[in-house]
Amino acid sequence: MKKLYRIEHDGAPRYAVERDGAWRLVTGDIYGAWSEGAEIGAEGARLLAPVQPSKIVCVGLNYKDHAAEQNKPLPPEPLLFIKPSTAVIGPGEVIQSPGWAGRIDHEAELGIVIGKRAHRVPLQHTQDYVLGLIAVNDVTARDLQNKDGQYTRCKGFDTFAPIGPCVAMGLDGRDLSVRGYVNGHLRQDSRTRELIFTIPELITFITSIMTLLPGDIISTGTPSGIGPIVPGDSVTVHVEGVGALTNGVVLQ
Ligand code: MG
Repeated sequence: MKKLYRIEHDGAPRYAVERDGAWRLVTGDIYGAWSEGAEIGAEGARLLAPVQPSKIVCVGLNYKDHAAEQNKPLPPEPLLFIKPSTAVIGPGEVIQSPGWAGRIDHEAELGIVIGKRAHRVPLQHTQDYVLGLIAVNDVTARDLQNKDGQYTRCKGFDTFAPIGPCVAMGLDGRDLSVRGYVNGHLRQDSRTRELIFTIPELITFITSIMTLLPGDIISTGTPSGIGPIVPGDSVTVHVEGVGALTNGVVLQ
């Protein structure tokens, strides 16, 4: 398995692959032909959002325990919504909490990064369209979600889509731990084997509706244990094999 990071290197964004502690700069197109070049010392390099999706397609209520927590029945098919590209931030950037919006929650999720244009992908070919896996925090203005009855406003604020810290390539997503921490305290703790709709099922379902572009992310839903975050907090999403995505929270 290798980890694809996007870092600031000599003042410019570059991709780098980390494997067994060694970092190598990437030359070429990560969605096309690319190769690993010179080894670099990457200690202290600033990590950037690993990809720049045109959209993040999110799945609501995709863990049995979270559906129970929300007092909602298990969905017969995936419930989808979209977070805008403008909500994306990278590791270490701050979530800006609108003070007027009421309760703001963390949602720790596994994300799937699409590697090539995907349209009506059959179940048996979905893996060919996956670049790798990523951690996502589906930050949500919970009071606005309840008030609006739909998700555009509550999920769409700038900074409400932290992603990172890397794209883990060649990682089997069927049984990974997904954890959420606030100020170091464990709040969410589940495994992707608890998903109602699996990664291949989601890719087939979503690409039967819309075309996914390279860099687009499917965020697979959050397990139980969601809860509020407030200015001053530090929130971490940890996905086994991908790593920890940590962001502070400030008042907007
Ligand atoms: Mg979510």
